[in-house]
Parts: sequence; C-alpha cells; structure tokens
Amino acid sequence: MEKGDENMKWMSFKQDGKEKYGFYEEEKQEVGIVSDMEGAPATLAAAIEEQEFLASISRDTKSVPYIKETSIEWLAPIPRPLKNVMCVGKNYRDHAIEMGGEVSVPEHPMIFTKAPTTVSAHKASIPAYESLTDSLDYEGELAVIIGKKGKEITREDALDYVFGYTVLNDITARDLQSRHKQFFIGKSLDGSCPMGPWIVSKDEVADPHNLAIQTTVNGEIRQQSDTSHFIFPIDEVIHVLSKGMTLEPGDIIATGTPAGVGFAMDPKGTLQKGDTVEITVEGVGTLSNTVQ
Ligand code: MG
Repeated sequence: MEKGDENMKWMSFKQDGKEKYGFYEEEKQEVGIVSDMEGAPATLAAAIEEQEFLASISRDTKSVPYIKETSIEWLAPIPRPLKNVMCVGKNYRDHAIEMGGEVSVPEHPMIFTKAPTTVSAHKASIPAYESLTDSLDYEGELAVIIGKKGKEITREDALDYVFGYTVLNDITARDLQSRHKQFFIGKSLDGSCPMGPWIVSKDEVADPHNLAIQTTVNGEIRQQSDTSHFIFPIDEVIHVLSKGMTLEPGDIIATGTPAGVGFAMDPKGTLQKGDTVEITVEGVGTLSNTVQ
C-alpha cells in the first residue's frame, strides 16, 4: 500500500440505521465515511476484495465526509462474514496446559469455528445467557483478516494473503463446550464473538508474531502474553487451512488465546453480568465489551 495509508483504522458502523464503513481518526474521534464516496464498494469486505480502491484512500483524500464518533454505532469490521469464523484452539502452550495439561498441547493446528451470527461489535453487550450457562468465559485473541482468495498457499506466500489484523474475544460457554464434545455449540452463542474496533492493514504491523496481548476484566489483568508464543504461527495456519479449502477475502482467523482464562482460575473467574472485558493487542487496538 501507499505511504498515505499508514495508520488507517478500517471500520464498519451504523449511521441512521444504515450500515457504512470508513476509517477512524482517533485524535479527532471522527469517522471518515468511505462508503458514501462515489464508486465505493458496498461493504468493507467488498472493499477489501478490491484492494486498489482502499489503497487509493487516505486521510488526505479530500472527498471523504467526516462524522463524530458519538453519532455512530460501532459494528464489527466484517459484520457478517461469508463463512464461520475459523479459530485456532490451544495455540499458546501455557493455555493448552491450563486447560488439559501437557497431553493437550497439539501437534497439528486444532481448528474449530464460530457461526457468523456470533459476530458483534466493539462496545456491544455480551449476552450473559444466565439460563444456558454458568461458565461464560473470555479469550483475548489477535485475529487475521484474509485479503485475497487462495488455495494451496505456501508458508512462504501466506502473509501475502493477509489484509490486516483486528482484536477478537472468543467468548465461550465452558459447560456447553465440554458437554457437547464438539466445541461448536459452546462457541456459537449469538454475540459471542466481539471483534474490532477496526482492522489495521498488515503494513502497519511490523511483525504479527511479536505483539503484546493483554486481557483485563473490570481493570484486573487476566491474560498477558505475546504472539511470539504461538505454537503455530500465522503462515503455518494459513498454509494448513488452505491445503484443501479456498480462503476468501474477509475470512477471519482467530489465532488462539494465552493462559489466564477465567475457567482455569481458582476460584473460577468466569464472566458475570456487569463485567467489562478489555483486550488490547499492541499496535492493533483495544476491544471493550460488557456482559449484560
Ligand atoms: Mg479461542
């Protein structure tokens, strides 16, 4: 991408009930409304597919109208992904061990998915589902947004297929996760995949395998790690996923969570109504959501 695209925070939002997208200007707390420009693709996912279009936009682009953040409702950057959100399970050794001991450290990437209906926004409420689960848990993660279509992608080429990065909370009902054996039900409650606030393009992230990641609950640090601890780095995950499956622009891959989930604490620190979870990934952003 061009120099002018540095620090672009691509986001989706609602204005007067209409889904739009643009970029966030953190200093001014304003949103540049790219989707209102002539010839703009309809959604951020469509714009990611047409990379030249987004590459032509910078904060110096004169024709971009601006709006105050206070008059928009945040949406997930990709509010309705094409396919399920793909998630790497147990990709940090310390988390694998806290959940199941040494034997649960995987030898091959372990992939499960979350339904597209789980996706929700920065600042959106996380539903408590008190009648369904007594162990709703957080998982702070770095997520990868795929930028171009590909299959049989080599490890060497894998990062060329990445558009950018966002922050994701892989909310999990632990009791449902174990009761139903397959993770899908416990990982797919509506609203259980907050992500955002925005996507930063890959060029702004010098090394995605060297980013601090931290999760707090009501301000208390619960998870603190670094993406250098991935068992399976991003290029390997993309290579393995794409061996027999086409990856498409706007596909989302959550890279796994480090140790410190509420379920592994003694006493348990799973989520209660009113709890606020904040996840920060260095150089990407901070995602904040409250259980209600
Ligand atoms: Mg996870």
